[in-house]
Amino acid sequence: MIKNKIFKAYAERNLCYIAARKMIPKGIVVHSTGVNNPYLKRYVDCEEEVGKNEYGNHWNVEKPDGRKVCVHAFIGYAKNKKIKIAEILPLNICCWGVGQGNKGSYNSSPSYIQFEICEDNLKSRIYYKKTFKIAKNYCVYLCGKYNIDPDNIVSHREAYLKGYGSNHGDPEYWMQKYNDSMDKFRKRVRKKLKAGKLI
Ligand SMILES: [Zn+2]
Repeated sequence: MIKNKIFKAYAERNLCYIAARKMIPKGIVVHSTGVNNPYLKRYVDCEEEVGKNEYGNHWNVEKPDGRKVCVHAFIGYAKNKKIKIAEILPLNICCWGVGQGNKGSYNSSPSYIQFEICEDNLKSRIYYKKTFKIAKNYCVYLCGKYNIDPDNIVSHREAYLKGYGSNHGDPEYWMQKYNDSMDKFRKRVRKKLKAGKLI
């Protein structure tokens, strides 16, 4: 059950949470973090679920790392190296994830649910498989819940190419190491959605 892997740990001090701009999700943006740190505690302020962030550099601050940034969720290691999904924003408010493109931004025009998969050193096939499987199941769950067509699941890179995000390459540079792609990812989501199995 994917729902058992989700916990909420809202970043209530983050300026994005405070702005609380309402949204109705029209799609999903998949990100990966771009740094080698697969532990949720780096980003998520919820000691009981993820352990203690010794540095206080999680995203439950006004501006994480000095930037106006926030996403809806992170996927990575919780306590005991269990891979979980931490929702740090309610899914009905806009996040500040994908930046601005030349046509608009999937942050708010139109608004997409956005999550980050915590990267490791990109060398563990097992970690890759596990995190992207959970990402797939999370997308199936979100597509069902918000009636989102899997065609509206994009990577940050695709968001940029479509004109709705800043110029980033995540997470394809990771996916291609394992002969994976967003097309294949969407196909897997669609297949599971069609199967209609409870996940
Ligand atoms: Zn990104």
